[in-house]
Amino acid sequence: MSEVIQDFLESAKEFANTKIRPFAAEFEEKQQFPAQLIKEMGKAKFLGATFPEKYNGMNLDPYNYGLLTEIIGKADCTARSLLTVHTSLVGSAILRWGNEAQKNKWLPDMAEGNIITAFALTEPNVGTDASSIQTSYEEKENAVIINGSKKWITFSGVADYLLVIATNGKKVNAYMVDTKTPGVTIKPIKGLMAAKASYISEIEFTNVEVPKENRIGVDGGGFAYIVSTALDHGRYSIAWGGLAIAQEALEAMVNYSRERKQFGKKIYTFQLIQEMIANAVANIHSTRAFLEKVASLRQQNHQDSVNETIIAKYLTSKIAMQISTDAVQVHGGNGFYNKYPVERLFREAKVLEVIEGTSQVLQNIISLYGLKKYYKINC
Ligand SMILES: Cc1cc2nc3c(=O)[nH]c(=O)nc-3n(C[C@H](O)[C@H](O)[C@H](O)COP(=O)(O)OP(=O)(O)OC[C@H]3O[C@@H](n4cnc5c(N)ncnc54)[C@H](O)[C@@H]3O)c2cc1C
Repeated sequence: MSEVIQDFLESAKEFANTKIRPFAAEFEEKQQFPAQLIKEMGKAKFLGATFPEKYNGMNLDPYNYGLLTEIIGKADCTARSLLTVHTSLVGSAILRWGNEAQKNKWLPDMAEGNIITAFALTEPNVGTDASSIQTSYEEKENAVIINGSKKWITFSGVADYLLVIATNGKKVNAYMVDTKTPGVTIKPIKGLMAAKASYISEIEFTNVEVPKENRIGVDGGGFAYIVSTALDHGRYSIAWGGLAIAQEALEAMVNYSRERKQFGKKIYTFQLIQEMIANAVANIHSTRAFLEKVASLRQQNHQDSVNETIIAKYLTSKIAMQISTDAVQVHGGNGFYNKYPVERLFREAKVLEVIEGTSQVLQNIISLYGLKKYYKINC
């Protein structure tokens, strides 16, 4: 690791520990992630961490971007979710498929945090079966007219642009839509179990006119290129976000068990508590090693990297759920209390098993991958 990257990650830790972690519960309580903090994350170069330097980025390789995601995600899941949607989903799609004019138009401002973006695929009636989207575009001279609705769109409540996936019945395209365009109505979704500060909203598009030049990628490439690239990068980011929750929950249970006394003894001396700690340590160590392997496959553009990333997202969201559940258990009654971080980690972990492909749909993909990869291998 170069000295520049080492310093960058050290300063990210300092930033996360002083400007994010102490306020994570407050962000959730107020259901707001401060605009000023987003700007500071931009200035600190987190929001364009993977972009090349010519677009104000840090040009981080997959492994170091993973470490950055873990650092931010350990401090606060909302801050991590901003990296996931803005930098990984939208940023990667533009970087990979945008033309030079589009990259110059959006990426430098995205890196600086001057422009915030969100990724709008899911609809009220279309989730896992994303190829059935109904949000439509209709071509009109130099523009397209978008109609329809999207739901659950992270950070859309404060986004300047949405990367909207829409169909004309035959082809699917992705358009960068300025949220100030007439006809865009953004309605915050309240009452969420987690991700309360992530400005998750439902969006209505009523005759929204979008310049044709805002289409990212080739005509008809909305799914094959844009959605697949965005989700691949999003899943990689979430995989590190899952590890972050698991690690944070482990540290919380270790510290609590070394302080709390029952029956005149520290509770870590009880074997059933030790079992939970042992399982957490073993799962985190093995998953971390696997994520490092996946980072290396991604660095090589290896043909298996997409499927291995899916496995990583599936596994880390599972261990985040298990370890945060155990962390609540180790905390006893205090595990239910929001003066301790573990109840929030527990709720945030659950989100990871639903977003960017539910665990069930990822299991479907993993089984197909396994059925192909290991067929007749021993014969
Ligand atoms: C906190 C949060 C943030 C989100 N952020 C975004 C965002 O930024 N952008 C965006 O576009 N979307 C976002 N989403 C939406 C998310 O991607 C969807 O919720 C997810 O894809 C699941 O779709 P669904 O909710 O419609 O569930 P459904 O697709 O209705 O699934 C319901 C259940 O059926 C199961 N199921 C469905 N199909 C199959 C199958 N073939 N085999 C087995 N089981 C199946 C699922 O696994 C699930 O358990 C977000 C959601 C949440 C909760």
